[in-house]
Amino acid sequence: MQSHASTPDVSQLQLSVRGPVFTPADPGFAAEVAAFNLSTQHQPDVAFGALDAEDVSAAVNWAAEHRMPVSVQSTGHGATNAIEGGLLISTRRMLELSIDPLERIARVGAGVRWKAVVELASTFGLMGLCGSTTDVGVVGYTLGGGLPIMGRKYGFASDHVIAFELVTADGTHRRVTKDENPELFYLLRGGKGNLGIVTAMEFHLFPGSDLFAGGLYFDGEHAPAVLQQFSEWVPSLPQEASASLAFLRLPDMEMIPEPLRGKFVVHLRYAYQGDAAEATKLLEPMRQSAPFMMDGTGPLDSTQMDSIHQDPDQPVPVRERGFLLDRLDNGAKSAILRHFGPGVQSPVLMAEVRLLGGALAKSADGEDSVGARDAAFSFFMAGMAVPPVAELLPVVFDAVRDDLRDASSGGTFVNLHGHFVDAEDRERPWGPTVRERLRKAKAELDPQNMFSFGHVVGLPVIDQTVLLEDIVTAGGDAVLNS
Ligand SMILES: Cc1cc2nc3c(=O)[nH]c(=O)nc-3n(C[C@H](O)[C@H](O)[C@H](O)COP(=O)(O)OP(=O)(O)OC[C@H]3O[C@@H](n4cnc5c(N)ncnc54)[C@H](O)[C@@H]3O)c2cc1C
Repeated sequence: MQSHASTPDVSQLQLSVRGPVFTPADPGFAAEVAAFNLSTQHQPDVAFGALDAEDVSAAVNWAAEHRMPVSVQSTGHGATNAIEGGLLISTRRMLELSIDPLERIARVGAGVRWKAVVELASTFGLMGLCGSTTDVGVVGYTLGGGLPIMGRKYGFASDHVIAFELVTADGTHRRVTKDENPELFYLLRGGKGNLGIVTAMEFHLFPGSDLFAGGLYFDGEHAPAVLQQFSEWVPSLPQEASASLAFLRLPDMEMIPEPLRGKFVVHLRYAYQGDAAEATKLLEPMRQSAPFMMDGTGPLDSTQMDSIHQDPDQPVPVRERGFLLDRLDNGAKSAILRHFGPGVQSPVLMAEVRLLGGALAKSADGEDSVGARDAAFSFFMAGMAVPPVAELLPVVFDAVRDDLRDASSGGTFVNLHGHFVDAEDRERPWGPTVRERLRKAKAELDPQNMFSFGHVVGLPVIDQTVLLEDIVTAGGDAVLNS
């Protein structure tokens, strides 16, 4: 599929949809395509704000007629590589949200953020499996697996999806469940945006919205002791406890609390669902690891989940890189300290080691495409993508990855992969089996590679010549019926 050198005539699209259509010359265009990650400037030929599934189908059909690639954006939290050309469908107006408290099931439209879900769920004493910030979109996060704060207890968010509603490249709106379209169900749980646009999703919530959670902040000079204790401590944690350790070089900005402003600190993030006394007891070894500057741990309602990691809540220009670790051995700890320890000048604002394992290691039904099951830790780095640091970041990221190679699993987790640098890197989040299944499904359902932005697999070469008409005729039978 080609992007258009000049803006295509959108009058036919305007007639067939209810939501707003923007071309680059329109005043609302920039706001429509803006991403949370300010370093990424999407430049589609046309932007469209879908109101519902019918709008999405009509827009996909229009793009197919014009042989245009299609991208999708909800919040732009996952905007690592810029979209160039084609039609960008924005889902931010698709805000349907309902909860069945008896069945503990939530239904969300494609534009709903976690914040809305956790707030409504908590009124029923329920909790959703959101990650470190409730500002991300529920659908985009879950399509990538969705690594929740309470993941070691409950698993990935995608383990608890009941149904997706999906518009495929032929404009068909399908319901995808374990029983209806099982191969698609397998692939959507971790396979990200390869196969179409999800318009709505239903998933399980969990009882209890109270946690003991928060952060301990240590002066960066104690990084070696805190990291050492962390590595000895995490194997003893039960599944009910989650933990991560972040090396933060905090900017001198008003939004940062005074004792931490402009400092190098080590931030232990901790969450436990269960008895507060037990939570406190479990945390004690980390409290003893070094004197801490600030203790933000305590009883916490799930609506306050964002206070655990304290991720930025305003759009920022960042560049990110993440990969998976099999272990946190002496070699890995030394490498981390070489790059992020005391006395080091690093352009990396945050380097985080997040504990995986527990329920994350097992697929709920043994079948999904999440690529991070076997890893012991997620390792993630982010820096401000502003000159002159922006150019340094990829170099530093490469050096860190090379130094951590022995402890690395070789894989990445799609949601925390960051920018991909080439075609191989783009597919890295999936192992060979999932990749092949994604390719096969894509060849059948999206043979023209309409959904070619973000983390997508390449099509088998032979199928790139197949025309969209062929898939409409064939109805994508093999994938849909397997
Ligand atoms: C501060 C921060 C903290 C984060 N913490 C976590 C965390 O704890 N755990 C975790 O797992 N991830 C985390 N992430 C990563 C986040 O889950 C991904 O970036 C996710 O893609 C965000 O989804 P979005 O829809 O909000 O973003 P968008 O940028 O709008 O979408 C990102 C991609 O998701 C896909 N997508 C979105 N909507 C649809 C749709 N309707 N149909 C098909 N594909 C779609 C597309 O491929 C799209 O390019 C974090 C990101 C940030 C910026």
